[in-house]
Amino acid sequence: MLNQKNVQLGRVRSSIRELFEYGKKRKAEIGEENVYDFSLGNPSVPAPPEVAKALTELIAGDPVKLHGYTSAQGDYSVRATLAEYTNSRFGTSLTADNFYLTCGAAASLTITLNALLNAGDEVITIAPYFPEYKVFTENASSVLKAVKSREGDFGIDFESFKKALSPKTKAVIINSPNNPSGVVYKEGDITRLADILKEHSRLNAPVYLISDEPYRELVFDKIKVPYIMNYYQRSIVCYSYSKSLSLPGERIGYIAVDPQMSEAEEVYAAVCGAGRALGYVCAPALFQQLIKKVYNKTADINVYKANRDRLLNALTEFGFKVVKPEGAFYMFVKSPEEDAKAFAERAKKFELLIVAGDDFGCKGYVRISYCVSPEMIERSLPAFRSLAQSYNLV
Ligand code: PLP
Repeated sequence: MLNQKNVQLGRVRSSIRELFEYGKKRKAEIGEENVYDFSLGNPSVPAPPEVAKALTELIAGDPVKLHGYTSAQGDYSVRATLAEYTNSRFGTSLTADNFYLTCGAAASLTITLNALLNAGDEVITIAPYFPEYKVFTENASSVLKAVKSREGDFGIDFESFKKALSPKTKAVIINSPNNPSGVVYKEGDITRLADILKEHSRLNAPVYLISDEPYRELVFDKIKVPYIMNYYQRSIVCYSYSKSLSLPGERIGYIAVDPQMSEAEEVYAAVCGAGRALGYVCAPALFQQLIKKVYNKTADINVYKANRDRLLNALTEFGFKVVKPEGAFYMFVKSPEEDAKAFAERAKKFELLIVAGDDFGCKGYVRISYCVSPEMIERSLPAFRSLAQSYNLV
C-alpha cells in the first residue's frame, strides 16, 4: 500500500490552487480582462535590473564551475557575504558557519522543522498562518498548534499563546510581515514573546523561535520589522529571495542559526543533517552566486504600496472592514457574513477571486493578494462595490 497521507496531500489541492485553476478556466471563457484574480501570492513586479545584469555576467564565466555542486550548506564566500551583511544591518555576530543556503523559505522551514523535531513534539504558530506549516510539521511526525491572534490588529494574543505552551513545545513559528494579514509584529510583541519563551525554556526544555521571513523587505511606511536574534537567543531565521527579489521560481533562500545559543553548533549540524536526509544536496549554484552580487537589492515595492493604498481606501469606502496591512502583499478582509467560504463564492459571481481564510486557520475572513497590476485593481473596483451592495454595506 502507498503512503496514503501523501496520496491525499497530492490529490487535494489547496483552496488557493483550486481557485487559481478556476480562474484560468473562467478567463478562457469570458476574457482575461473580465476576471479579477486575487488568488495567488506570485510577485507582480519584475526582479530588479541588477539581477539580469548579474546573471549575464555569471553566465559568461566558467560553466563547469558555475553549474557544479557546491558544499551542502552552500558556497562559503556566499555565506560569508550574507553573514557580514546581516551583521551590518542588525548588529548580530553571525558567521558563514551559521548560514545554510536553501531552495527558498519552504525548504528552510522543512529543513529546520526536521532538524528540531522528534515525533510527538509540538509547534505553535499564530493564526492566521501559512497553511504549509501544518503539512511540514505533520510530515516531521509532530503537531501544529495554532493560537488565535489578538482581536483588532492580528498581533499575538498572549493569553491564548501561554495556554498553548506545554512541556512538549519544541518550536514556535512566527511570520512577519504576515501572510495573509500583512501585519508586522511590533517590538513590544516580540519582547513579550521572547520573555515568555525564555521563562518556559528555563522551566522545561529549550524552545526554538523560527522566524519565517520571506516578506521582510516588503514593508511600507518605514515600519520596523524587529530582528528576532536581538530579542531571543534561540532563534532560527528562515529567509527567502522569492518575494524580495521577485524570484519565486528560482528557489533560493537560507537558514540562519542564532550563534548565541550554547547548542548552536549542534543545531547547525542538525540542519545540515536534515537537509541531507531530505535530499536537498545543495541550493541552486547559479542563484547562490547571484545572491552574492545582489544580496542588498529589493524589487520595486512601490507598486505594492500603491495597490495597498488604492484597494484599502476603496474597500473601506465600500463598507468592508480591513486591518491596514503594513507589509507583504496581502489584505485580510472581514467577511460580511459568518461563513467566509460563502462570501468568497458570492464574490465569484462578480468575477472576484478571493480566498476564504479558513485554510489559514482563521474563519470569517478572506485573503486578497494584491500583487497584481494596478490596472486590474482599478478594473476590479466596480465589482467590489457591487459585492458590497449585495450585502447592503454601501
Ligand atoms: N512562508 C510564507 C509565509 C509564504 O507566504 C511562502 C510563500 O508564499 C513561503 C513561506 C514559501 O516561500 P518560498 O517560495 O521562498 O519557498
